[in-house]
Amino acid sequence: MKELSFFDGTFIQTNEKKVCIEDRGYQFGDGIYEATHVYNGKCFALERHLKRCRRSMRELRIPITYMDEELRAIHEDIIQKSQIKDGSIYFQITRCTAPRVHYFPEKVIPHLSMTMRQSDIHSDWQETGIHAVLSEDIRWLRCDIKTINLLGNVLAKQHAHEKDAQEAVLFRKETNLITEGSSSNLFIVKDEVLWTHPINNFILKGVTRSILLEECAPQLGLPVVEKAFSPQFALSADEMFVTSTSMEVTPIISLEGTTIGKGTPGKVTQKLLQAYHVLVKKECY
Ligand code: PMP
Repeated sequence: MKELSFFDGTFIQTNEKKVCIEDRGYQFGDGIYEATHVYNGKCFALERHLKRCRRSMRELRIPITYMDEELRAIHEDIIQKSQIKDGSIYFQITRCTAPRVHYFPEKVIPHLSMTMRQSDIHSDWQETGIHAVLSEDIRWLRCDIKTINLLGNVLAKQHAHEKDAQEAVLFRKETNLITEGSSSNLFIVKDEVLWTHPINNFILKGVTRSILLEECAPQLGLPVVEKAFSPQFALSADEMFVTSTSMEVTPIISLEGTTIGKGTPGKVTQKLLQAYHVLVKKECY
């Protein structure tokens, strides 16, 4: 099977019409999402994703009407029913369906939808590295919440796409500081120190980022500094890479046309990717 979806308790075909026109997710972007990767029929780091999902819902005051056990079981079911071994699962929870007014309606029954698709990690990007462009970070000030409002990210990714780059590196104009990628967290290595933006309202606390900082970097004895840096500082880095569920650890070999380091995937980046793969093997194989 190629893909399978789920909507409010029933498995459906992805192209089946189910969402009401007045779903607040559809009209306001009033909802949250998570995206996980399935390796060998098992969802990697699901607990971390579920924890972040609950936090996003709490921050947006969307009632949490699912137990983690239920969400876990739906993930297992969709993997089993779709018969997909390696792929990605996207799920979103929107506040509810109600006549369109901005404030929350009195009766809120959230909608859960999920899609499982076959998809492979871009191992070619990991081997050769990718090109990135800079893009002004025009998003709202709660980038820590994984909401389905992604227009700032969409415009930045499109900008990268039009420049034949694979990722956009976002920077805040007011501070001249890099925040993250359009769909990833950004890291640099300079003088054998790993740098990344600290956790606050300007970035998403990526699951892959957390795994790298909590497990992979300590294993390699790599010093880490969680501090924001400028695009100019980033251009002087020895290595640069992004992390995300779907890109794992992917090297950046040029930014705005300027070569980073030697213009090939860096040694530290490669070691971190290997350490990440060991964790995936341990959990999913
Ligand atoms: N930042 C943004 C803006 C993202 O969209 C993503 C991917 N969802 C990430 C960071 C990386 O998060 P994760 O490692 O949990 O996939």
